[in-house]
Amino acid sequence: MTPVSLLRCNTYDNDILKEQIRQSFKNIGFDVKTFKKARVVVKPNLLMPAKEEKAIITHSEFFRAVVQIVKENGGMPILVESPAIHSLERVIKKTNYARVIEDEGIEIANPAITKTLNYDGAKKFKHIDIGAAYFDADIILNLPKFKTHGITYMTGAVKLLFGAIPGVEKSKMHLRAPDHSDFAEFLLDLYGAMTYGMTPSKPIIHVMDAICVQEGEGPGPAGKPKWLNAILAGENGISVDCVATMIAGLDISKALTVVNGFERNYGVSSKDEIKVVGDNIDALCVDDFEPATGSTIFSNMFRWPFNTPTFKNLFLDRPIPREERCTLCYQCKKICASGAISASAGKKKVPEYDYNKCIRCYCCLEICPEAAIEKGRGRFQWVLGG
Ligand code: SF4
Ligand code: SF4
Repeated sequence: MTPVSLLRCNTYDNDILKEQIRQSFKNIGFDVKTFKKARVVVKPNLLMPAKEEKAIITHSEFFRAVVQIVKENGGMPILVESPAIHSLERVIKKTNYARVIEDEGIEIANPAITKTLNYDGAKKFKHIDIGAAYFDADIILNLPKFKTHGITYMTGAVKLLFGAIPGVEKSKMHLRAPDHSDFAEFLLDLYGAMTYGMTPSKPIIHVMDAICVQEGEGPGPAGKPKWLNAILAGENGISVDCVATMIAGLDISKALTVVNGFERNYGVSSKDEIKVVGDNIDALCVDDFEPATGSTIFSNMFRWPFNTPTFKNLFLDRPIPREERCTLCYQCKKICASGAISASAGKKKVPEYDYNKCIRCYCCLEICPEAAIEKGRGRFQWVLGG
């Protein structure tokens, strides 16, 4: 059985967080004394500059509590993260992370320095460039924020490792794996490589901030905060994601990084092999969690003829910028790897979208700071029940 710690926590109070996170390590059998003299990479979700209460980023106090536990046990924490389009420096400056980093005196790794991770056990992506700091670490602490997601349905431990790839290189991966299922397989290749393919090998512990999470059109400014009141932890990220999906009352069969991960048997092959340690899972489950809408139900339909512009335009959600909210900041244009977005041309003060080029990765929707991009339904989407 694969242990996943699940503990109730309805606050970001430092003392309570530390108590619950220490207990989380204990529940999964991880001895915090292992931190002694270790270089410990601590990787939060710092997608973009965002207010804490929007629940887009891992809460800075959650990060602080983990860092303090590392330090009190003689470890050296290093912040490693590579936001989507903004510099790490800017995201830190614009969030409470600046204060936490100053208070705690934390080293920050340069996300631009990369090294190739080679893993023969991967299905397709056997060579992936990730931050060099992961190679230099003795232990990796992955701190996902649980959120809904337009492509992967939910984002948690497995998806957060995507942040190991520097900056906008991430969005280019959508071109190499445009099919939702392929994208999940790519994420699992990366997860497998980081978990089993690093030399020297090192423990990766996933400690999930599922206290205040995102529902609806996550994982960016369009998502809505929702209190799930939980901290999860485990050495198996697929299992951690599975339990989080269950407490949110979401459909596990749509969480491709979980179900496809089970198929690979990366330490766990079904939810029945997961042992929840700590609080009763039923007491933490909610029944009013709002999933992301959209095209994830067409997860295997991005191959010919379904990947043609005509099919996509008729049957899939399209990202539509709304003039009333758009500030023409063009962050959407910057992140779009398929070149589908250009400057505003007509009377409308919004970027121009070429839907024939758009691969429906929804990266623009994810990072738009004004939540100005909505999903519009394809004309015949109703035929497929989407
Ligand atoms: S749609 Fe959003 S990201 Fe794009 S230009 Fe407008 S405000 Fe900026
Ligand atoms: S327009 Fe948006 S959804 Fe379409 S490919 Fe570009 S970033 Fe992805």
